[in-house]
Amino acid sequence: MRVLVTGGGIGGLATAVALRQAGADVHVVEKAKAFGEVGAGVQLGPNATGVLRRLGLGDELDEVGFAPEHLYLLRWQDGAHLAEFELANRMLAEYGSPYYTLYRPDLIDILSSALPDEVTSFGVPVTGVHPDKPAITLADGRTLDADLVVGADGTHSIVRGATVGDAPARFSGMCGYRAMMPIEPGEDLNVQLWLGPDRHVVAYPVGRGPNWINMLCVVPEPDWHEESWTAPGTAEDLRAHFDGWSSKLTGLLDRVTEPVYRWALYDREPLTHWSTATTTLLGDAAHPMLPFLAQGAAQSIEDAAALASVLDDDLPAMLKAYEDKRRVHTARVQRMSWDNNVVYHLADGAEQRKRDADLAAGDGFHPYRMTWLYGSNPF
Ligand SMILES: Cc1cc2nc3c(=O)[nH]c(=O)nc-3n(C[C@H](O)[C@H](O)[C@H](O)COP(=O)(O)OP(=O)(O)OC[C@H]3O[C@@H](n4cnc5c(N)ncnc54)[C@H](O)[C@@H]3O)c2cc1C
Repeated sequence: MRVLVTGGGIGGLATAVALRQAGADVHVVEKAKAFGEVGAGVQLGPNATGVLRRLGLGDELDEVGFAPEHLYLLRWQDGAHLAEFELANRMLAEYGSPYYTLYRPDLIDILSSALPDEVTSFGVPVTGVHPDKPAITLADGRTLDADLVVGADGTHSIVRGATVGDAPARFSGMCGYRAMMPIEPGEDLNVQLWLGPDRHVVAYPVGRGPNWINMLCVVPEPDWHEESWTAPGTAEDLRAHFDGWSSKLTGLLDRVTEPVYRWALYDREPLTHWSTATTTLLGDAAHPMLPFLAQGAAQSIEDAAALASVLDDDLPAMLKAYEDKRRVHTARVQRMSWDNNVVYHLADGAEQRKRDADLAAGDGFHPYRMTWLYGSNPF
């Protein structure tokens, strides 16, 4: 089968690797001039690292991934431990694959290195999908055809708009500031998640070594609407959002230097279908979600495995099998990520005390009990 994958992000590249291993003839069309990911971090749960290992990328992943020992959930004001979960040992034991934090460009390198150069065309955006046959049109006027078109072109997917129709973006009212800083001697190398009224912060180490602390600071900014990894913010604005928070967090924020970037956070309601007779969607193009469960990239990697596992000349049956494996599952992840916009951000009061008591008792979003998420097998 000849497959055109539009978009060479984490999802598109994982798809190309998985489909080639399953025997398909794959071509990736990426609008950027080269593969790239912003210099930020990404957490990959065992559901995603397990797929990458099955694709034969385990050694490379072990080289660049860092396995933090714990996830600490912390109270905003004083950094009191609301709950702590073992990540390195326990996730491996429960789910058979590590929980890693990574530098995004390292992940892209691993995936793109698994593909021969000639598999990808760079620098020409896809502008549309042919209405009558499995083909895409490019900005330079060319048409490329195949047996199947896979839209892995991200949250603003052209393929989605041209095939199953668009779902309006839903603004969360929140904005994510991201920053990275060099690791210092004595640094806390766990995943730390501070929860407070209206906002939260997650910090974790990334890079070979590890050598950076990656921070995502989520704050309400209802008037800021730009979805971009590269829109600038200021360190001063960022710090002002966390006045009065625990000294460990403000100490980290004091080390933030510019550039600082901010991203208005949107998702979309789950789609009712992803495919036409000869096209389908994958990753953020299919199921954009808020980054409040650290699962968007992981789900795109799972999608890749699922699609490759049902590769079949009977295209309608194949695409139905793919959607059956993925649509309900990813909708659940989308919804839970959206719900965390409330759960993470409760004001101090009865609801917050109940959430914290549940967390302390090992209920709530408990990683060892989320077998449906971390133990999912998309193959
Ligand atoms: C702040 C933040 C933190 C996050 N943290 C995590 C995390 O810890 N763990 C996790 O699993 N997920 C996380 N995510 C989610 C994750 O980043 C995304 O879900 C993931 O990158 C989606 O991959 P994708 O390949 O589907 O789409 P994208 O990464 O958007 O890739 C799409 C690709 O398509 C290309 N493209 C777009 N349009 C066209 C076109 N017309 N023609 C050709 N090419 C095109 C783009 O250039 C791009 O390369 C986070 C997201 C955010 C915003």
